[in-house]
Amino acid sequence: MTHAAVADTFGDSSADALADAFTGVFGRAPEGSWAAPGRVNLIGEHTDYNDGYVMPFALPHTTRAAVARRDDGLLRLHSADMDGGVVELEVDALAPGATEGWARYPAAVLWTLREAGHPIGGADLHYASTVPVGGGLSSSAALQVVTALALTELHGVELPRQELALLCQRSENVYVGAPVGVMDQTASACCTQGHALHLDVRALAQRQVPFDLAAQGLRLLVVDTRVKHAHADGAYGELRAGCEAAAAALGLPALRDVAYENLDAALADLPDERLRRLTRHIVTENRRVEEVIALLDAGRTPDIGPVLTAGHVSLRDDFRISCAELDVVVDTALAEGALGARMTGGGFGGSAIVLLEESTEAKIASAITQALPSSRHFLTTPGPGAHRLS
Ligand code: ADP
Ligand code: MG
Repeated sequence: MTHAAVADTFGDSSADALADAFTGVFGRAPEGSWAAPGRVNLIGEHTDYNDGYVMPFALPHTTRAAVARRDDGLLRLHSADMDGGVVELEVDALAPGATEGWARYPAAVLWTLREAGHPIGGADLHYASTVPVGGGLSSSAALQVVTALALTELHGVELPRQELALLCQRSENVYVGAPVGVMDQTASACCTQGHALHLDVRALAQRQVPFDLAAQGLRLLVVDTRVKHAHADGAYGELRAGCEAAAAALGLPALRDVAYENLDAALADLPDERLRRLTRHIVTENRRVEEVIALLDAGRTPDIGPVLTAGHVSLRDDFRISCAELDVVVDTALAEGALGARMTGGGFGGSAIVLLEESTEAKIASAITQALPSSRHFLTTPGPGAHRLS
């Protein structure tokens, strides 16, 4: 796996424009610039915090950061995507819960790097992103990972990519206070162009699985519903707690330890209907990841469609984290001849993915727009993971 500097999707000019913007904000030139992508999860939803399997790939959309070190103990942050100008923080005063707003993500990363013993001080950072913010495509992980990569490389700290992702996850768990799994950060840090990343979260074992859509006349459409229902964040913690309760009731470390072949027996042992639903989703979802990998390895990419759709049904009926808008997108796509479709990401809004044959793209895309006029869509292919731009 190589992570050498690669041309950004938006061309070399994006690094120059980013540097100019940095200079406009901070009055000096940056020392370098970096990019980290958002992600789409192909299959393996809510399995990461159950020690299971996930399979994300990187979007060509990235969050870019131009950066220069400071020696006065200040962290100064600016984002082209946020109002409010420069946020100035004292590195020594960083502490979990102490930072408000978007700046808490990069502040958390710096705090966590220092907690881990890395000799990293203040800096000026300017960000600009093409990842839709709040669309379930992990703009937050892109922001964390680009920050961690920039700060470590600038300070000559060599961190393996998986460790960098774990550090970013820890920053969100401890500093931001969100009990997220490690999928999003790993995807942004470790994905490679033309591949989906199979991650076994317990073993932290990775495999890059070739995922070449164009060669088979296929396209993948990402549809951002542009809705996020208010209970999304609280529900995440409840779902996680429910999965942990189910594993505990079964006397297992995690739901990953329920073998697919033993699912019925496990369900019979669970005390209530909700825990049975959560367990059924996680166990069948891990199985679907294995099915998708086997199909991709066999060159049968179109056949992953029904597996993706089965994943949506499981999230809708068993995990119950879909919503009317996501269901409309999936149902419309399938009715118009898509090979498969599913919601992706945390749920209750955000984005769906649609696997389709090239010839059906225009028809399916326009039907989706008609069915959900507020939605936005784009075609995508797996892009590179985080990298240095200049
Ligand atoms: P998602 O990760 O699905 O896009 P989240 O709610 O997890 O949605 O993360 C979005 C938050 O991440 C934003 O509200 C903001 O705090 C932060 N963020 C993401 N991208 C940027 C950016 N380019 N500049 C500043 N903050 C950002
Ligand atoms: Mg996020």
